[in-house]
Amino acid sequence: MFITFEGPEGSGKSTVMQAVAPRLERPLITTREPGGIRISEAIRDLLLSDDYSMDARTEALLFAASRRQHLVEKVQPALDAGQIVLCDRFIDSSLAYQGYARGIGVEEIMSVNQFAIENYMPDLTLYLKVPPEIGLARIMDNQRETNRLDNESLAFHQRVYDGYNDLADTYERIVTIDATRPIDEVIEDAYQVIIKKLG
Ligand code: C5P
Repeated sequence: MFITFEGPEGSGKSTVMQAVAPRLERPLITTREPGGIRISEAIRDLLLSDDYSMDARTEALLFAASRRQHLVEKVQPALDAGQIVLCDRFIDSSLAYQGYARGIGVEEIMSVNQFAIENYMPDLTLYLKVPPEIGLARIMDNQRETNRLDNESLAFHQRVYDGYNDLADTYERIVTIDATRPIDEVIEDAYQVIIKKLG
């Protein structure tokens, strides 16, 4: 079972994923995008570095390249071994950020990603929904490392949010969780959604 966690900045998806994982009490791995393996972590450093300004399509291709290597090197072997894979971000991030927010368009991003993942899609996606004003205020409070994407405008983050909402309306595999609530409630909801899917 391939389960992805999605959401905008400050949605808490990484925290929720790490909290849910041990509660599932099943063989699983947790991983993240962009990253999770050496090549993809190196691409992540490139993508997030303040040292470069980057063309939007270059950015989209690098996310897709990172995804490809991570998929074949880590995700697929774990799934083949019967493990559950919990992954922080996957294709929906590219659709929301590069497709909607950067304005490349969903179809173009989908086609680049179909090349990268060969129609390999998650079985379940948890979308942690939080509007940008709340999400951005949260990350300001948490002193995390800054990255190139921190310079984006509120309008950019609003497009990410609108994009995610559109995707959630489009794909049945995406389950929306209200992530404006206290973190324990969000974790409990995420746990229940996954348990239900696992049967
Ligand atoms: O989820 P995480 O904080 O690790 O993501 C790192 C950064 O990459 C975030 O600032 C996120 O907005 C950005 N990102 C992006 N396009 C993607 C995936 C992530 O701009 N497809």
